[in-house]
Amino acid sequence: MDCIFCGIVDRSLPAELLHEGEHIVAFRDITPQAPTHVLIVPRQHIDSVAELEGAHGEMLSEMILAANTIAQQEGIGDAGYRLVFNCGRAAGQSVDHVHLHLLGGRKLGWPPG
Ligand code: 5GP
Ligand code: ZN
Repeated sequence: MDCIFCGIVDRSLPAELLHEGEHIVAFRDITPQAPTHVLIVPRQHIDSVAELEGAHGEMLSEMILAANTIAQQEGIGDAGYRLVFNCGRAAGQSVDHVHLHLLGGRKLGWPPG
């Protein structure tokens, strides 16, 4: 399968890795939309959040806890940050491997575009 994020997980493609966990890997987004823009992805290839099941609970909690830890490390834990899953084309999903965006370091607008 030709998946960019699987390539980053197995280290065949380069990325600035920030964190590796049992079920997840975190790295900086190549086109950052904020001073801190990190992607947290499962090691397992799953196309979309819509395909997640109860059995993925441990992986999901690891993703969110890693995002919180990285936000602290990046110095944005107190100011605030945003966690986003884009699910499907209408929501802007462009890479079909589940990923959690961690965004912060500037004032983020709401509602999103
Ligand atoms: P989506 O639009 O699917 O929610 O988010 C995909 C994200 O992956 C985008 O923010 C995009 O900049 C990022 N991205 C795409 N290709 C690469 C890559 O090769 N390396 C890294 N680090 N990020 C990527
Ligand atoms: Zn993948």
